[in-house]
Amino acid sequence: MALCKRRGFIYQASEIYGGINGFWDYGPLGAQMKKNLREAWWQDMIMRPAWGRQGPGGKNVRCVPVETRIIQHPKVWEASGHVGGFNDPMVDDKETKQRFRADHVWVIFAYEETLIANILTQNSERLAAGETLPISIPPTFSVVAGSVTEALRYVIENVREFRPYRKAEWATNDLFDEPTVAMYDKDGRGFVANTLPLIEVLKHYSIDVIPSPATQKTGTLTPPRQFNLMFHTYVGATASEDDKAYLRPETAQGIFVQFKNVVDTTRVKVPFGIGNTGTSFRNEVTPRNFTFRSREFDQAELEFFCHPDESVEWYKFWRDFRMEWWKTIGLAGENLILREHEKDELSHYSQGTSDVEYRFPFTAPGFGELEGIAHRGCYDLTQHQEHSKTKLEYFDQEMQLRLQAEGKSKEEIAQKSKYIPHCIEPAAGLDRGVLALLCEAYTVDPSRPSPELMKFHPRIAPIKAAVFPLVAKDGMPEIAEKLHAELSDKFWRVGGVEMDEKQSIGKRYARMDEAGCPFCFTIDGETAASQTVTVRDRDSGQQERIALDKAGEFLKDKLGM
Ligand code: ATP
Repeated sequence: MALCKRRGFIYQASEIYGGINGFWDYGPLGAQMKKNLREAWWQDMIMRPAWGRQGPGGKNVRCVPVETRIIQHPKVWEASGHVGGFNDPMVDDKETKQRFRADHVWVIFAYEETLIANILTQNSERLAAGETLPISIPPTFSVVAGSVTEALRYVIENVREFRPYRKAEWATNDLFDEPTVAMYDKDGRGFVANTLPLIEVLKHYSIDVIPSPATQKTGTLTPPRQFNLMFHTYVGATASEDDKAYLRPETAQGIFVQFKNVVDTTRVKVPFGIGNTGTSFRNEVTPRNFTFRSREFDQAELEFFCHPDESVEWYKFWRDFRMEWWKTIGLAGENLILREHEKDELSHYSQGTSDVEYRFPFTAPGFGELEGIAHRGCYDLTQHQEHSKTKLEYFDQEMQLRLQAEGKSKEEIAQKSKYIPHCIEPAAGLDRGVLALLCEAYTVDPSRPSPELMKFHPRIAPIKAAVFPLVAKDGMPEIAEKLHAELSDKFWRVGGVEMDEKQSIGKRYARMDEAGCPFCFTIDGETAASQTVTVRDRDSGQQERIALDKAGEFLKDKLGM
């Protein structure tokens, strides 16, 4: 983080005003680096998807872009399921993507060391007699011992009925209209609290001990967060509830709502993909880990539409390609894994989901999600078809012709050639991508004069090359300026070319190492006579001498252009 600030990769947003939690700005190097990442995605996912490979059945992979707005009709978010019960803390099942009210899932919790054990021991007779306590502990619990964590685990592992604490359950307490949760003091006396302390308490206790109502497994729930993670605003001058609109929490929905237009106005044919990149907003309850969980971030999402019968093959195709892709831009090695979700973790419509995960320093030894690749079935288009009352079926002419040629009945042809395509969604986060690339590139080598360097893949490096006159005299600056102008002219589309004549050459190399610049060209005393320059490789520190007029070609070759 210190290097990111010092070298101008990432700054805190509004820093001179004390910053604003969950928002980060990119400095000159970070902005160019993120642009490089977005462009690599755009090139390899849209312009030449999957590097020109053929997909399942030898089919060509075709993708087109859209650019959709941050603000959409509020009904989009009702159809997508993002708008629902407001202001309730929710937990998400990371695997099935199902969402639950936190106070439904967390039947009981503690804020004091021996709490549960005390409650259960104090009430063991009543429990044994089958009496229901006013605290929603099912009457079957009679033995709990040990630390609060063990007690909590015991209770949790055995609870199969999830109930919120509500006014009605508190016969003696009718003060609270809000959904409430119960807490107990040291003497076992209960009191109710609103949901805010619940979040605090639950954050304190390990989330890993609470089983998900979806899978009954522990460790799959997120910490509780405000259900409506969407920022809202008002469209128009009156700011009434009718004018309420949301800032998108994902770019994907923009694709689904323009699916029909893209099909009707272009020549795309299933299978094909629509890509969308841009800024999304989530009012994360606990933004943290640098840019990993921000409140404003950029996504790069593809929705790949295909025939239902081919969807599993396409899912595997994209899953494998996305993993390979991250490796080619510098995340190779054991810090990157593909985690395939288990069958029983999947939502009802999905036939596969996997995450590309990176071992960030703050998740180690665990991993954090970088991209999710989900088989979403026909779920999203069906939702939008229902909510918008607009037909989003696809008419598959090729299928119709094939079935006709096979002599199939009219009914069968009509039924099989009109369908809602299935969708495979590789959804990547660009800011998390930048963060992973920064973490992976960061190298400390005490044997070097300046021990910190950034080993970026050349495609990602914000500065592609630097040109140095060894000393600022004897005609060297003039040659350097000429080379700098030539290289800038050739490479400005992919990144910066720097020129620096201040300080010792060692310090200039060190500066470029920290910025992750892969190649430095130095004009020295020999250049004028031999028309050669030295080129220094960032990672090895080795230098070689090449012809001055071949510097551009050398760089082009090394950048893989
Ligand atoms: P998480 O479980 O970490 O909240 P998610 O599963 O909700 O992530 P998706 O909805 O699948 O994330 O979004 C796709 C991608 O968008 C993620 O893989 C991640 O790279 C990025 N992303 C999501 N939320 C954030 C955030 N708050 N800050 C930065 N990037 C994010």
